[in-house]
Amino acid sequence: MLDDAGLQALRDAARLSPDNLPLRQHLAGQLLAKGYLGEAEAEYRAALVLAPKDADITAGLAEAFVRQSAFGAALAALEPLLTSSAYQPKLGVLAARALLGEGDTAGAAYRYHEAVSRDPSVGDPDLAARLSAPPVTPYAAPPAPASPYAAPAPHASPYPAPPAPAPAPAPADQATAEVERSKLTFAEVAGMEAVKESLRVKLLLPIQQPDLFAAYGKRAGGGVLLYGPPGAGKTHLARAAAGELGASFVNVGLADILDMYIGSSERNLRATFDLARRNRPCVLFFDEVDALAARRSDMRQAHTRQLVNQFLAELDGVDQNANEGVLVLAATNAPWYVDVAFRRPGRFDQPVFVPPPDPAARAAILRILCRDKPLAEMDFDAVARVTDHFVGADLKGVVDRAVEVKLQQSISAGRPIPLSTPDLLAAAQSVRPTAVREWMATARNYVMHANDSGAWDELMPWVKGKW
Ligand code: ADP
Repeated sequence: MLDDAGLQALRDAARLSPDNLPLRQHLAGQLLAKGYLGEAEAEYRAALVLAPKDADITAGLAEAFVRQSAFGAALAALEPLLTSSAYQPKLGVLAARALLGEGDTAGAAYRYHEAVSRDPSVGDPDLAARLSAPPVTPYAAPPAPASPYAAPAPHASPYPAPPAPAPAPAPADQATAEVERSKLTFAEVAGMEAVKESLRVKLLLPIQQPDLFAAYGKRAGGGVLLYGPPGAGKTHLARAAAGELGASFVNVGLADILDMYIGSSERNLRATFDLARRNRPCVLFFDEVDALAARRSDMRQAHTRQLVNQFLAELDGVDQNANEGVLVLAATNAPWYVDVAFRRPGRFDQPVFVPPPDPAARAAILRILCRDKPLAEMDFDAVARVTDHFVGADLKGVVDRAVEVKLQQSISAGRPIPLSTPDLLAAAQSVRPTAVREWMATARNYVMHANDSGAWDELMPWVKGKW
């Protein structure tokens, strides 16, 4: 494995020749081996832009996801390849790890058995031991033609169907997502003035001034796609939009929708939209929407295409009034994976970029995060100056860390000691910012190499900046 200097040299080389696929792939592999998972993910994503559907790159990306516990993202990345009957068995093992991470032990066991029966060398005894199914020896005999773990037919689900006889799918007419009442408002969202303004016009004004909008033939409803680096505040913003509007908030995660049984995911999706419709006005928020709304061109798999089609049908509504008062917000770190059909008028027609915070916004975020804590006189600007590349989630990490330390000191002293600027400065030293720089590197690839439609023009000034 490379030492740090070697790795840095590789990074520099890749930056100088961003189109050199073998170089980027090698860099990604080294990053993964050394545990720089966020950066490895970004490199693999960048490499996939250059070589979409490459099995080794996809495997690397999926591994980076699994090791970051982003199991849904790993499955979404693997899915297009797993539908081919000739897929590489190592991809099956990765899918098994992701399925196990999602709590789907039966599905994981099935996928694992199948992979190992096709290539015993991919066996992973630790994984086998964690699966509740009888442990599989990595030296299992090659598959007999009638093996129940034979490769799925080209149109089988990429999520493993259990061996026959398959249990009947449970009826899923009840949504698992819950309805929240958000107390947050835009006052608790620091910075992002342009983003808040855009949400106000798109979401809030039509509800607050329906007559004006009706006069122009516009109705309340529709969707907004929020995209940007992880931790920049997309979920926070969506929750605040609901609070600002006095609307209910339904936060939908991948686990609420995706189901291994064919047809169940579509039913879950319909039930979730129905839940929002029963609670209007409602902000219906889909996190990690790229996994649900992935480009259909990337999918050779009929079942997943159906899910995308169902999502589009729900967004459009069965009749004109179906989604009146239901505002659909969706968030993604990877907007380039979202099917263009989602960007048609009336759907997520205006993607909104949620940028990493500038120094003034970082100071404002810190002020909000520290608001209810015992404080000495604070110089938030000083902390903002030393937290380049930190997003909201990182700043929250800094404040949490500083509070922990202060709490310990207060317990020892037997009295509350207020949080001070040096505490935050010290905590900032110990928090490593999440992968904004890497995200920008991926975004730069799309802006430079895959922006024919101008969809990513908004990112141009950002990716040209210094990261
Ligand atoms: P994302 O959905 O983009 O991954 P989150 O919304 O989960 O990011 O952000 C993580 C946390 O960071 C939030 O819970 C919030 O506490 C804090 N945060 C992020 N952005 C802001 C902001 N602009 N103002 C105040 N807090 C923020």
